[in-house]
Amino acid sequence: MQIPAPFDYARATGVDDAIALLDRHGPESRIIAGGHSLLPMMKLRLARPEWLIDINDLYELDFLLVDKDKLRIGALTRHTALLESDDIARLFPIITDAEHVIADPVVRNRGTIGGSLCQADPAEDLSTVCDVLGAVAVVRGPNGDRMLTMSEFHRGPYETALAQNEILCELQFAIRPRTSSAYEKVERRVGDWAVAAAGASVTLAADGTIEEAAVGLTAIGLDGTVPDIDSTTRGQKPSEELFAEAGRLASLACDPVADQRGPIDYKRHLADELTRRVLRRASERAAQTQEG
Ligand SMILES: Cc1cc2nc3c(=O)[nH]c(=O)nc-3n(C[C@H](O)[C@H](O)[C@H](O)COP(=O)(O)OP(=O)(O)OC[C@H]3O[C@@H](n4cnc5c(N)ncnc54)[C@H](O)[C@@H]3O)c2cc1C
Repeated sequence: MQIPAPFDYARATGVDDAIALLDRHGPESRIIAGGHSLLPMMKLRLARPEWLIDINDLYELDFLLVDKDKLRIGALTRHTALLESDDIARLFPIITDAEHVIADPVVRNRGTIGGSLCQADPAEDLSTVCDVLGAVAVVRGPNGDRMLTMSEFHRGPYETALAQNEILCELQFAIRPRTSSAYEKVERRVGDWAVAAAGASVTLAADGTIEEAAVGLTAIGLDGTVPDIDSTTRGQKPSEELFAEAGRLASLACDPVADQRGPIDYKRHLADELTRRVLRRASERAAQTQEG
């Protein structure tokens, strides 16, 4: 199958117009942003929406803003804009790391952060990044805005808490001192989806010990962040022994399946190794922010 089933199409003129269109056309209508997840699914007839509501004219959803103690990213912000942002590289290098390994320039020029999160594919790199950074999703529907944590937003594979007539408008990330982050992915070839990936965020106390840490895993069967990482690392000096213990926790917490990307043991090994690496790099980067 290469040709989608027939559908109608409307271009929204504003967020409220998009919500009204979703309301009017009901459960068989879908938002289209970059189209890099939805269109392949339509071509494979895995999705058969009767109406596509195009939000590409909604420039009010395309922004990247440092707003006091938080970074706000509009849902229509393209991967390329995230990759090229100096603010992001400085404040949340985990996003820059992830964007370097998401697909290829063609996908990155169109695909959006909102589409990535709403697709909720377990192999979506930005879902892990948002989990690790404790992002908050701003969602709008006919009754106004609501704010959701990532554990409220993600309901499971390909499922979110968005109602049929709601739109993801933006993601917010708290900016914290002495904090940094990192992401690393193993893929079969450049631009491919992850065999496995890990992301970490580390906040250091003034004395160089870890005040707070989080680790997330991509494509290997873990919802949310790895349990017990924070309690295990809190108050400890970053060290190879600590990273090894965190790696062990990650390899136990994940639940990978064997597939064409590799057997279960290999993926657990990747969870361990990648967790050590991202914690090490995030700790080093957090220490550098302290020196600066
Ligand atoms: C060849 C290829 C390789 C890829 N490799 C990777 C990879 O390595 N890592 C990775 O993470 N991703 C990868 N992707 C996925 C890509 O990053 C996502 O498809 C893309 O970013 C999704 O965003 P989009 O704007 O294209 O979403 P769309 O396809 O337009 O939409 C996806 C879903 O989200 C909904 N949606 C979109 N925006 C909103 C909104 N604001 N509010 C409510 N619902 C909304 C749509 O209705 C649809 O259900 C790849 C894609 C391709 C085609």
